[in-house]
Amino acid sequence: MTKTVPVREHDVKDELAAPGFPILARALAEVSRNFYDRGWVMGTSGNFSAVVSRDPLRLAITSTGADKGLLSVEQIVQIDPAGKTIEGSRRPSDEARLHLAIVRKRGAGAVLHTHSIWATLLSEIFAKEGGIDLEGYEMLKGLARVRTHAHKEWIPLIENAQDVAVLSRSVEDTLEQHPNCHGFLIRRHGLYTWGQDLVEAKRHVEILEFLFEVVGRTMSASAKGL
Ligand SMILES: [Zn+2]
Repeated sequence: MTKTVPVREHDVKDELAAPGFPILARALAEVSRNFYDRGWVMGTSGNFSAVVSRDPLRLAITSTGADKGLLSVEQIVQIDPAGKTIEGSRRPSDEARLHLAIVRKRGAGAVLHTHSIWATLLSEIFAKEGGIDLEGYEMLKGLARVRTHAHKEWIPLIENAQDVAVLSRSVEDTLEQHPNCHGFLIRRHGLYTWGQDLVEAKRHVEILEFLFEVVGRTMSASAKGL
């Protein structure tokens, strides 16, 4: 009788627990094409990352200028904590610093950033309020640790800036001021959200983009007296 050694099973579990750069790069490219198809990352907008390892900190992230509808694994690079490419030949997204800040502050395993029409529109409408209050929607239960539709989710809003160092400081301040938020908006720019892994981060984008559209459409319907 042949002796069976459960090495393979352990290998698979290890791989799922820490998928490694090639698997994460493939998964990020897939998420990108999926989001493009839904109109959330047109052209080269948006950027995505996932943690490859925590010690030392390594991130798989989209490279700058990559078309999100045609994103291939070669356009995902691996960066170090300083945002320098250590695997791949391209330059990482200009917003890599924001991804690194979110990973450090929130312990996130993946960070996703979209530029949807509804997020752009609401980020301007609610600029004076400094954020958007989402409350009473069943879909809120798709956010990590949320158990009831009565949950009150405050999505803070920060001013846009072309200086990534300035933007990065605003992001860090916002995350400190709102320790329970699942995402934030940058004015006239888009949404940042994250999760403990890529699956959770993708779900958060879907939930928040859904709710932004509901809020936007509700406002539009009330304005028309519907
Ligand atoms: Zn952006």
